[in-house]
Amino acid sequence: MTTALPVPTLVQGPTGLMLEGVALSEIAARHGTPTYVYSRAALTAAFEAYQTALAGRKSLVCYAVKANSSLGILSVFARLGAGFDIVSGGELARVLAAGGEAHKVVFSGVGKSREEMRYALEAGIGCFNVESAAELDRLNEVAGSLGKPAPIAFRVNPDVDPKTHPYISTGLRSNKFGVAFTEALALYRKAATLPHIEISGIDCHIGSQLLDPAPMAEAAAKILGLVDQLASEGIRLDHIDLGGGLGIRYRDEEPPSASTYLAPLLECFAGREETLCFEPGRSLVGNAGLLLTRIEYLKPGVEKNFAIIDAAMNDLARPALYDAYHEIVAVAPKAVEARSYEVVGPICESGDFLGHDRELAVEEGDLLAILSAGAYGMTMSSNYNTRTRAAEVLVDGAVMHVIRERETLEHLLKGETPLP
Ligand SMILES: *Cc1c(COP(=O)(O)O)cnc(C)c1O
Repeated sequence: MTTALPVPTLVQGPTGLMLEGVALSEIAARHGTPTYVYSRAALTAAFEAYQTALAGRKSLVCYAVKANSSLGILSVFARLGAGFDIVSGGELARVLAAGGEAHKVVFSGVGKSREEMRYALEAGIGCFNVESAAELDRLNEVAGSLGKPAPIAFRVNPDVDPKTHPYISTGLRSNKFGVAFTEALALYRKAATLPHIEISGIDCHIGSQLLDPAPMAEAAAKILGLVDQLASEGIRLDHIDLGGGLGIRYRDEEPPSASTYLAPLLECFAGREETLCFEPGRSLVGNAGLLLTRIEYLKPGVEKNFAIIDAAMNDLARPALYDAYHEIVAVAPKAVEARSYEVVGPICESGDFLGHDRELAVEEGDLLAILSAGAYGMTMSSNYNTRTRAAEVLVDGAVMHVIRERETLEHLLKGETPLP
């Protein structure tokens, strides 16, 4: 490998790879495989990169819970003072269980139910990111029935030209999110007339795995224009939320650092009073985690060699789903000839692969680490093929904490009954 590993706290130790002060082989011996393993130091460093870049500004970094919603991960960010961006009542329950503060929670998503609105209002969340006129009406009604005003921002689609910024085109293609830029003014005017709605801010989120700061700066400029227009009509906002989306390195991408990414935005917002909010997910957790797995079988073939591992697409869906690339490394390479392998799981689907054409010097029974798996890994896992979900371990220096026990078949069959 010519470049450094993308997981910053992964180091070479005497018995193979270590995350911080813990040998991956020790984690496998104690807790089995497949297991997601996270580094507290890497989570903290990623969060602090945002905090440092935003120093001296009124700001709030709201971790996007959907990237990794395990209580152990949420508690690390809660202790660092993070806010949280949630997309369901279930995620709010997780944030509260992990010690997060309700008033630092923003609630995104196009399909909030009445029940979720009530729960969030009663908990006292900071802001609803409203995504349609119908949602605004419903929220006004629910807030009225509770006698508790609902703080809102509209999620506005700033319509940044995706052609000039191909990295984000997937983020803009779908139009189910947000309200059109051209409709935002009318919606704010309407919200201002509703008795149980309190206008608090404005929100946008233009896409994911962004590697270029330019489209964000363009979006921010458009949003600011709208904010000033609203102010001229007497509608003043307390906060401006620019969403998440900063990318990470999986292979050879060169994403900007948080400070490089934020610099043009901070320039754009210089001298303004509003609190500046962000909703990063992937960039806080993606490279703080890996999936530790063991090789069950090596299966040499005429055209391809297969390394069949005990993790599969149900554990980490991104390769099967998006053809995403994750670096795969041997935890302790053997003194055997390196060969090219298709790294595949046991699931009965041809799409069940974790990596194509990977050079590995390994034998049956060896451990592999699938890197950059901290974001959209565990949260997208499933029980397909009646596979129990992986355990999760959070490493903190020389200490390992099991933050999620391996699922058992008992867990998995709970609530099901055959016909009598
Ligand atoms: C998914 C999502 C995020 C986080 O996106 P990342 O690319 O993981 O940073 C932030 N805000 C909203 C509304 C989202 O849907």
